[in-house]
Order: sequence, then structure tokens, then C-alpha cells
Amino acid sequence: MDAIFSLMQHSLPTFLITVFIFSLLVGSFLNVVIYRLPIMMERAWQAEYQGYFHSDDTAAPSTPSPPFNLVKPDSTCPHCQHKIRAWENIPVISYLFLGGKCANCKAPISIRYPLVELFTALVATFTAWHFGATSQGVWAVLIVFILIALLFIDLDKMLLPDQLTLPLLWIGLLLSTQSVFVNPVDAIIGAAAGYLSLWSVYWAFKLLTGKEGMGYGDFKLLAALGAFTGWQGLPIIILLSSVVGAFVGIVIMITQRKDQSVAIPFGPYLAVAGYLTLLYKTPITEMYLAWVLGS
Ligand SMILES: [Zn+2]
Repeated sequence: MDAIFSLMQHSLPTFLITVFIFSLLVGSFLNVVIYRLPIMMERAWQAEYQGYFHSDDTAAPSTPSPPFNLVKPDSTCPHCQHKIRAWENIPVISYLFLGGKCANCKAPISIRYPLVELFTALVATFTAWHFGATSQGVWAVLIVFILIALLFIDLDKMLLPDQLTLPLLWIGLLLSTQSVFVNPVDAIIGAAAGYLSLWSVYWAFKLLTGKEGMGYGDFKLLAALGAFTGWQGLPIIILLSSVVGAFVGIVIMITQRKDQSVAIPFGPYLAVAGYLTLLYKTPITEMYLAWVLGS
């Protein structure tokens, strides 16, 4: 591992190109995660519900459903069930080569797939460039992958799966033992304070209005982000996500003429704000202090 690091440190372009290509492939896998993880969760909930309330229902047909997870079944065209072959699954390139259409039935393929791949590769490469070929750089790229999956799943389904937020929290706490981004004290307080701050806002909002402004997934995500940025990063994350969230919310209300109760997921803003804070905590804090102190 050290040998690879020292090689990469001597050639930044090699490091960045490696990250770019690897991240395109990961982006392709993230498309699968974004689409399948919520379906897997819904199926698990259904099975759990059946187990609780219909456990003695022996009349129910007990045909075991075929496996559905991140690797099985193989990806198919949603229109003609044509199995996607390896050469049709090369990130971005296959989409361009196929002209955005299924190789078999010519049904259009959503442009979101190559865009997610490209977005993943660009953000990961920028992150790698920011931190350089260091352990910070490698871990930050992994964080980016998880945040991108969370961002799109929340946009699609208003859901931040525990399967992603909790590992992110553990990774943040474990990395703090080596002080990769922050020291353990800052990380542990950051995680606890991150959870509790949104938890308090949630309950205050619920007691005042009787409505639920956000979900427990948001608390867990902010806890994870707090573990990476330390408690010092939390005010920046909350400020950035609220300002951008309010702005986007107003734009959506004006342009789409939706009423005020329209549900907008908060997770994407937290993810973006957490990412920016991980990279720019120090300059943002300095800018803010300079502004507050009026110098
Ligand atoms: Zn097809």
C-alpha cells in the first residue's frame, strides 16, 4: 500500500487518472445501488410485516421469490428484459456507442445513468486532487461514493437507508482514531451533536406544527458528517444546507406553484454541505469569523 502511495505521490496525473477511471466504474455500480437498495428495503419491510401479522397464515402461498440484491438478478432492459452484456455496460462509453438506446429493442435508456457515472468520476477526481495521494484523499473519495448514493436515493424516494448512513458513521469514527480528518474527541462530539441537533429541531417542529419536517435518516446522516468534520463543522453544514435548501424550496414553490406543504428531501443538501465542509472547513470558518468581526 505504501509502495502504491509513493508511486502515486510522484505522479499526480497517474493518481488522478486512476481515480477517474475507477470512479466511472463505481458510478456504474452506484446506479445499481440507487435503483435496487430502496426496492430491497421495501421487500424486507413487507416480509417483516408478513412475519409479524400473518405468521400463522398457513394458507398463504409459500413460493420463495427469486433473489433480488445488488448482484442478482443481472441487469436487464426494463422494456424487453434483454440481458445487458458486458460491452453494453461500459460507463458512459456504452451509452454513447448505443446512442442512448437498448441494443435489442431500441427503447431509450435514461441519460441519468451516464450522468451519474460522469458526476461520480468528476467529483471523486476533484476530491482526490484536493487532498492529493494521501490517506485523506483515498478516504474522502470513498465518502464521496456513499454520499452520491444517498443523495440520489433521497431525491428519488425521500429515504436515507441505514445501510449507507450507519457505515458512514462508523467509518468516520474509526478514521478519527488515526486522526485522518479530525481527532477522536471532535469526531465523537460531532457525531452526537449532529444527531441531537436535528433531532431537537424535528421534535420542536413537530410539537409546534404537528408536522414532520424531516426523518431519522437526516439525523443519522448529520451524525456521520459530524464524525468526519468534527463538531466544529456542524454549524457550517447546517447553515449551508439550510440556506441552499430554503433557496431551492422557494424556487420550486414559485416555478411549480406547489403549495407550502410540498415535501422536499433534506438529505441532498446535507450531503452537499457536508462534502463542502469536509474540504473547506478552515477557509469557510475564517471567512465567517472575518465577516462577524467586521474586519
Ligand atoms: Zn430493450
